[in-house]
Amino acid sequence: QAKLAGRASYHFYHPEMNKLAQDRLLLGAALRNAISQGSLELYYQPQFRLKTLEFIGVEALLRWKDPELGNISPEQFIPLAEEIGQIEFIGCWSLREACRQLSIWRDQGIIVPAVSVNLSPSHFRSRNLPAFVSDLLEEYHMPATHLTIEITEGVMMDSHPESLEAVSQLHDIGVGLSIDDFGTGFSSLARLTRLPITELKLDRSFMRNFETDPGAQAVATAVIRIGQSLGMTVVAEGVETEAQAKLLTSLGCDAVQGYLYGRPMPSRDLEKWIATAVTS
Ligand code: C2E
Ligand code: MG
Ligand code: MG
Ligand code: MG
Repeated sequence: QAKLAGRASYHFYHPEMNKLAQDRLLLGAALRNAISQGSLELYYQPQFRLKTLEFIGVEALLRWKDPELGNISPEQFIPLAEEIGQIEFIGCWSLREACRQLSIWRDQGIIVPAVSVNLSPSHFRSRNLPAFVSDLLEEYHMPATHLTIEITEGVMMDSHPESLEAVSQLHDIGVGLSIDDFGTGFSSLARLTRLPITELKLDRSFMRNFETDPGAQAVATAVIRIGQSLGMTVVAEGVETEAQAKLLTSLGCDAVQGYLYGRPMPSRDLEKWIATAVTS
C-alpha cells in the first residue's frame, strides 16, 4: 500500500516539477542569449504634468521578444534574471541604453525632457552603481536631473548599509530617485522622510475601480499629501480613463502616466508621436 502511494505521488508530482524546472532552464538560457545577442529592447511610455498636460519625460520599460518563445513579460524575466545572476548586467544595460537614446534625441532636436529607469533592489547593493551612473552622465553629456531611477519600496526598507549608501551617493550626483508601486509594500514613513527621494509613483492597482472605491481614493489622497508635503512629485501610473484623470486632478496629483495618454512604445514610435502630438 505504502509503496503504491509512493509511486502514485511520484508519478503525480515529478513530471510536473521537471517540466517547470526545465522551462526555467530553457528560459534562463534564452535570456542569457537575448542579453548577449542584444535582443532586449527598451520601450518608452510618456509622462505628463496633470494640470497642463505638458510632456515631462518617459519611463523606460524593458521588452524581450524571443524568436521562438515570443514576447516574455518583464514580470516574468526580471525575477529570472535575478536568479541567474544577470540583474546587474540588465540594469546597467538599461541605464546605458536610456542615456544613449536620450542623447541621440537631444542631438536630433527631439525634446524628451527626462527618462526614468527601473532598477532591481539587489542592484543597489552593488558598490559600483553610483560611479557607473556618474560615468554614464558624463559620457553622454547628460545633466543628472534628466535621469530618474525607480526603485521599489523594498530598497528603502533594505537594511543593507550598501543600499542606503548607494541611495545617498546617487542623490549627491543629482539624479532623481523615485519609489515605484508606492502603497503596495510596507514602507516606514519615518524612513521616507530621511531618504533623499524625489518622486512617489502611486501603484496602478489603485486605479482599478478608482471612481467607485473610497478606499483607493483615500490612499491616493494620503500618498499625494505625504509626497507633496515632503517636497516630492507624485505620479499616478496606470491611468486609463478620463474619469480617473479628473479625480486625480481634483486631488492635486502632480503627474500621470497610462494608456489614456500613451502606451509604452519603441523609440521610433515615440519620435512619431512627438512629431504629431507635441507641436507648438
Ligand atoms: P512598473 O515600473 O510599475 O511599470 C509600469 C507597468 O505598467 C508597465 O508594465 C507598463 O507597461 C504598465 N502600464 C502602463 N500604463 C498602463 C495602463 O494604463 N494600464 C495598465 N494596465 N498597465 C499600464 P511592464 O512594462 O509589463 O513592466 C512591468 C514591471 O516590470 C514594471 O513595473 C517594472 O517593475 C518591471 N520592469 C520593467 N522594465 C524593467 C527594467 O528595465 N528593469 C527592472 N528591474 N524592472 C523592470
Ligand atoms: Mg517603474
Ligand atoms: Mg509601477
Ligand atoms: Mg510594477
